[in-house]
Amino acid sequence: MSSHWIIDTGSFVAAFLFIYGLKRMSSPVTAHSGIVAAGIGMVLAVLASLLYVINVEAVARPHLLVNFTLVAIALGLGLGWGWRSGKTVAITAMPQMVALYNGMGGGAAAAIAAVELVSGRTSGKPQLGVTLAGALIGSISFSGSIIAWAKLGGRINNPWRIWGQQALNSLVFLATLGLGFYFITKGGTAGNGATALFFVGALLFGVLMTMPIGGADMPVVISLYNAFTGLAVALEGFVLQNPALMIAGMVVGSAGTLLTLLMAKAMNRSVWNVLFSNFGDVIIEQEREIKGRLKPVEASDAAVTMRYAGKVIIVPGYGLAAAQAQQKLYEFVKLLQAAGVDVKFAIHPVAGRMPGHMDVLLAEAGVPYDIIHDLDEINDEFSSTDDVLIIGANDVVNPAARTNKASPVYGMPILNADQAHQVYVIKRGQGRGYAGVENELFYADNCNMVYGDAQAVLVTMIQAIKDLGEGAILNAA
Ligand code: NDP
Repeated sequence: MSSHWIIDTGSFVAAFLFIYGLKRMSSPVTAHSGIVAAGIGMVLAVLASLLYVINVEAVARPHLLVNFTLVAIALGLGLGWGWRSGKTVAITAMPQMVALYNGMGGGAAAAIAAVELVSGRTSGKPQLGVTLAGALIGSISFSGSIIAWAKLGGRINNPWRIWGQQALNSLVFLATLGLGFYFITKGGTAGNGATALFFVGALLFGVLMTMPIGGADMPVVISLYNAFTGLAVALEGFVLQNPALMIAGMVVGSAGTLLTLLMAKAMNRSVWNVLFSNFGDVIIEQEREIKGRLKPVEASDAAVTMRYAGKVIIVPGYGLAAAQAQQKLYEFVKLLQAAGVDVKFAIHPVAGRMPGHMDVLLAEAGVPYDIIHDLDEINDEFSSTDDVLIIGANDVVNPAARTNKASPVYGMPILNADQAHQVYVIKRGQGRGYAGVENELFYADNCNMVYGDAQAVLVTMIQAIKDLGEGAILNAA
């Protein structure tokens, strides 16, 4: 059996497993096996690439001096770090980890391009163009994702906007593109200085493009960089003529593009608007005076009211993930259901800190999918609902999104929680949401605050219902 045959078959099976894995990830029921299949595909792709380097590259071009010690160190570091961070990451830190890993993919594609450019192996104009395109997109995705990682983890808190930002960004981008064209006209012999400048320009543009974006627009940016990374990997796969890279890159690129469009639609913004609105302006956010007052109630009183309601909608948000209260929440829901209450979950597309965050949490707790509803499905039902229970959500129920043009959440569709007969909000204090704005819903006449960590509040609420002593009903829960 020739090594070529093994490499080609390995790459083909890896590519098949990527597509098959992604297909299975489209349903929460099969997602776990999908991730395992894609993981096996990745192992195969790495082994096939290693075999290619050992048996083909090193033999055909001995002067390139492939350093296997460095390869082994890189593999060991990557495996060790990936394994450890995957095992130990807190669920609340998952979004920033995803952003970081996504950036690594873009960075790896850019690194491949850098090696190709510096080694002088790529000389034809079309090939140079593809290599440079991958380098540009991969570098932007790398530095942009690092900024997104810092923003998601709270390391950078405010959008950074300067006067003339749009002009500065355009200048950096055009200068980088210009260097790229210079490179092509020189047939790849522009020198290492020009190569370094090209990468500095691309990396700088990623930083400048991401710094002004914040609040409600972050989900769109994260999925856009996901698409960028896929595209950069596919382009570099083409340069290396590596089918596994090409297919994996195209799968990620197209999935990321679809996700970006979906997220932009969910936020009621165009991708262009997310990336380029407000450039050049220094925004001074003016908060409107909010009428009404905050009205705290005991957790047990809120629980008993919901126990005697006909219909309850639950709106989970980032605070549910932070408190890790999903199991307790489902326990509470089962008690309500056993008492005959019609309970539904309403999921906003950008609730939490990563796409699908709430679905993952609820699936982990075993909440059946048929009571979980998207914004479009459930938004008309709030006005005919007795009680809404908001747990650690804030921006996704902020009515300012409908009416306050100065608000960073303006224009985003929200869950119509304010239209319910009665609203209860579980949160620890007066902390704001990710967008950093006050929520007038909390001051409304039909809204009461249940202060405390979501997990502790739910424990009290569960006990309050159990204390009602309706043994027969509760034993069924
Ligand atoms: P928010 O970030 O708007 O609000 C979360 C609320 O949870 C806070 O007001 C906080 O108030 C409360 N909270 C925090 N910890 C706890 C706890 N332990 N127990 C109880 N409450 C707690 O969350 P939403 O889900 O409503 O909105 C998501 C936001 O994140 C949107 O602005 C979205 O654009 C953004 N985003 C979403 C991404 C995605 O892909 N889904 C990615 C990046 C950003 P307090 O401190 O008073 O407890």
